[in-house]
Amino acid sequence: MLQGKTALVTGSTSGIGLGIAVALAQQGAKLMLNGFGDVEAALATVRAARGGGEVAYHGADMRKPAEIEDLVHQCGQQFGGPDIVVNNAGIQHVALVEDFPVERWDAIIAINLSSAFHSMRVALPGMKHRGWGRIINIASVHGLAASAGKSAYVAAKHGVIGLTRAAALECARSGVTVNAICPGWVLTPLVQKQIDARAADHGLTNEEAERQLLAEKEPSLRFTTPEQLAALALFLCSPAGDNVLGTAWNMDGGWLAQ
Ligand code: NAD
Repeated sequence: MLQGKTALVTGSTSGIGLGIAVALAQQGAKLMLNGFGDVEAALATVRAARGGGEVAYHGADMRKPAEIEDLVHQCGQQFGGPDIVVNNAGIQHVALVEDFPVERWDAIIAINLSSAFHSMRVALPGMKHRGWGRIINIASVHGLAASAGKSAYVAAKHGVIGLTRAAALECARSGVTVNAICPGWVLTPLVQKQIDARAADHGLTNEEAERQLLAEKEPSLRFTTPEQLAALALFLCSPAGDNVLGTAWNMDGGWLAQ
């Protein structure tokens, strides 16, 4: 389905981003990966999904606009495009507003919100010129509702949805779509840290902490998987997604239905 297209996925060395990169590669897209951690493992996984070749990596730090610009340009020089940009890189920090470290606030706003603006401002002109493009911003249920202790994350994710809607309107007649995906709980390293903290704070086993975390917010009591989110991303990239614009599409086990 995506032969000849180039996809750039930020934060694709782990979790949801890696799952989406694999699914795009399975559909034949050329892939530019990004993120920290085990880069070689991510490259090997995505190359295997693609059946080899045309998978590269750029180590841009999503806090740094100039590095994000370079990421988009390098992607274009190496593979063409990008035709699909998935803004996925994200971090979390949990603290009350009055205790929130200023440096963590700045990092969350930069990585979870501003990085999407920077990749879009560089990638959109080419997409509009070619008459086809997909921007998929990985927001969160926390883009549509709040939880205590997550002020920076909630502010950034609400901002991502606003950015998505404004850009979707700007692109409405160009063949480019801009949408956000809003997952509930997904069992990735980002959430495992919160499970570990809960287990330590309340003297719970990992399983008890997991069950408590789900029970507080997610009526299905099940985690969404990166593969399920990737299937939604593929839908947005398919011809069936041509007229889907400016959505904030939740996949959250009923979280937001309450
Ligand atoms: P994860 O920790 O598994 O992956 C995060 C990725 O972002 C990693 O590849 C990491 O290296 C990268 N990253 C972090 N800081 C970076 C930086 N400065 N520059 C470049 N890359 C950086 O987390 P995940 O759960 O897969 O989260 C992915 C996205 O999904 C995030 O935006 C997160 O907010 C969102 N999300 C996650 C959940 C969940 O329950 N896990 C729910 C809703 C939304």
